[in-house]
Amino acid sequence: MIKRIAILGSTGSIGTQALAVIQQHSDAFAVSVLTAQSNADLLVEQAIKFHPTHVVIGDEAKYAFVKNALSGTDIQVLVGAEALEEVVCYEHVDVVLTALVGYAGLLPTVKAIKAGKPIALANKETLVVAGALIMPLAREMGVPILPVDSEHSAIFQCLMGESHNPIEKVILTASGGPFRGKKRGDLEQVTRAQALKHPNWTMGAKITIDSASLMNKGLEVIEAAWLFDVHASQIDVVVHPQSIVHSLVQFEDGSIKAQLGLPDMKLPIQFALGYPNRMQADFPRFDFKDYASLTFEQPDVETFRNLGLAFQALEKGGNMPCILNAANEVAVDAFLKDQIGFLQMSDLLATCMDQGTFLSSPSLEDYINTDKTTRIMAQEWVSKLKH
Ligand code: NAD
Ligand code: MG
Repeated sequence: MIKRIAILGSTGSIGTQALAVIQQHSDAFAVSVLTAQSNADLLVEQAIKFHPTHVVIGDEAKYAFVKNALSGTDIQVLVGAEALEEVVCYEHVDVVLTALVGYAGLLPTVKAIKAGKPIALANKETLVVAGALIMPLAREMGVPILPVDSEHSAIFQCLMGESHNPIEKVILTASGGPFRGKKRGDLEQVTRAQALKHPNWTMGAKITIDSASLMNKGLEVIEAAWLFDVHASQIDVVVHPQSIVHSLVQFEDGSIKAQLGLPDMKLPIQFALGYPNRMQADFPRFDFKDYASLTFEQPDVETFRNLGLAFQALEKGGNMPCILNAANEVAVDAFLKDQIGFLQMSDLLATCMDQGTFLSSPSLEDYINTDKTTRIMAQEWVSKLKH
């Protein structure tokens, strides 16, 4: 049986690597849907190569171009955010890979779960915003949420065969990003170009900035809490600059299991798409002889405040992680546009968490409203700063 995959965000870093995996395993996988926000050229190129039945272009201004470019094919072209909620439900979609970035992943993921589609989840923001809603819904529908994030894939792999054994702790590894070892004074003036230079991974702009600020690890802490049903106190973060140990699980007897490999997202992508089977791959192998040492150190939460803010948001619960996420999306965008400095991103997050309206048991509508109002608040903060 060939698995037919809908890729939301096919033109991004995860999306393009997923297509490379699918191409390598064309006997096992096919593409049913491809979607992109604005990179119309690449979307068209991918559609011609992989023959989905449908493509979605988010940006309305690009619709005519995509429609015209695919007019000689039988591929249907749809447009806009709402089309994402529609395409994930099609009968010929066997798995939905959420490789789009940010809050935009939430509603299509909810729809896909309601339609009973297994989710290969790269879009961590969805679980950060509304894990309390997503996980019970997935359980109710009997839908697996298969992590693509390398740390969570590692934990997921460590937990195979351990379903009856309680987790004592999960330990997430972090590369530390390009500013590891720097102090606050060093970070005041860092530029967008410096922050975009990740030492070990090539990724989209948003997650690369999140990695530089340790926000990515903060989001992953919240993602892990929901995926593996653990409390904030059961999650540790350790900085491991070589990015070889992808994460670890500690059990009640003190035993720790880890998953290792070279940093290559194709491995966790392939594992999620192929689950429960491992599939042959010719990815370069890790060799201990190439590494004199694997090192581990404590994260510097004084300098990288976002990690602490994420733990606070997780402990507070309710819509606080949604506030954190919305503020962060505005903060990263403003930093990428040179409107605010690197350290001011944390100030903005803390302000929104402090001033946002807290709701202890939000509904889906509450999450949607929280996202909206937090973005307005954050945008105003950025605007005031500019004048
Ligand atoms: P990216 O910026 O490279 O790609 C994002 C994709 O989403 C693009 O195809 C883009 O067209 C689409 N998109 C952007 N905004 C959209 C919107 N508003 N609506 C619909 N589609 C939109 O991002 P990426 O690095 O591939 O990351 C994607 C997701 O995977 C993120 O949630 C990220 O945290 C997660 N992730 C990425 C990596 C990685 O190595 N890149 C690793 C782990 C997790
Ligand atoms: Mg990760």
